[in-house]
Amino acid sequence: SDQKLDYPLSPQAMNWKTVFTASQLEHPVPEWLDLGCGYGGLLEALGPRFPQTHIIGIEIRPKVVDYVRDRVERLRTGAILPAQYTLPDPSAPAEQPKPAAAAKAQGKRYQRIQQDPNHRRAALPVPADLTPPPPPPLPAPMGTPILVGNPPAPYRWDNIAAIHSNGMKYLPNFFAKGSLSKVFVLFPDPHWKRHNLRRRIISPALLMEYAYVMREGGLMYTITDVDELHVWMDRCLAEHPLFERVPQQELEQDPCYALIWHSTADAERAVRKCLNKYPAVYRRVAPGQKA
Ligand code: SAM
Repeated sequence: SDQKLDYPLSPQAMNWKTVFTASQLEHPVPEWLDLGCGYGGLLEALGPRFPQTHIIGIEIRPKVVDYVRDRVERLRTGAILPAQYTLPDPSAPAEQPKPAAAAKAQGKRYQRIQQDPNHRRAALPVPADLTPPPPPPLPAPMGTPILVGNPPAPYRWDNIAAIHSNGMKYLPNFFAKGSLSKVFVLFPDPHWKRHNLRRRIISPALLMEYAYVMREGGLMYTITDVDELHVWMDRCLAEHPLFERVPQQELEQDPCYALIWHSTADAERAVRKCLNKYPAVYRRVAPGQKA
């Protein structure tokens, strides 16, 4: 239960050195957050590419946090090598995104839900022509620098870590106002049933909290393989006065955008199941700045 979850009384009371134990900084403070980081695939992909940024994952399942910590420790000692992306077979035809309606007709999960009379869909209507953008090219293999600034050499896996907490409850305890420049919410749990909507990790009320801990100009990245959840998250963000959609053109230049498509366990699962992926990326803007 939440009683067992650790959280500081205030961001000033948080000693990040106890989390980023190997950091070379005396006072490491995370700038990027992976909310519901799961098995840490995104952390592992971002860490070496942005070695000067401290990146924290928050995960509510204790065993999963232990897994991430153990993995980072083994990466640090060189016991294992970082995950590599499997490059697609160049002779295979590229998988094209399908309109939502066609994707849905194929998905067993949707059929099961439609057949279950007690399963109240949250049922935001999904436009029949909703089609995600094509997947961006795979990010360059690990070790190829897409770097900001000069990396410390050799890379020490000292800028990524995961903590066990409830990211929907305690963010303002961990993070000072305006301290985060990126927040990632990748493949969050869909919480289908209408009475569970408030459990969704993106909601109008929670966006206010995320906006509070984010700095102006910071980016919130979401991606899901559930069309209806995408419509929900996209609408919550679009209607929020402090978030503005990032133009697709800009995203295509952003290495983090490619990584959200490809780097996590659930991103790979979606590929195995031939599911579409729907991204939505929004910028935190100043009050009154939204066009
Ligand atoms: N982002 C990962 C990925 O793409 O593979 C994991 C996706 S998984 C479907 C959603 C994760 O969010 C789960 O690991 C779950 O335990 C975690 N989670 C759900 N609610 C959370 C909360 N309130 N705080 C922190 N983590 C949460």
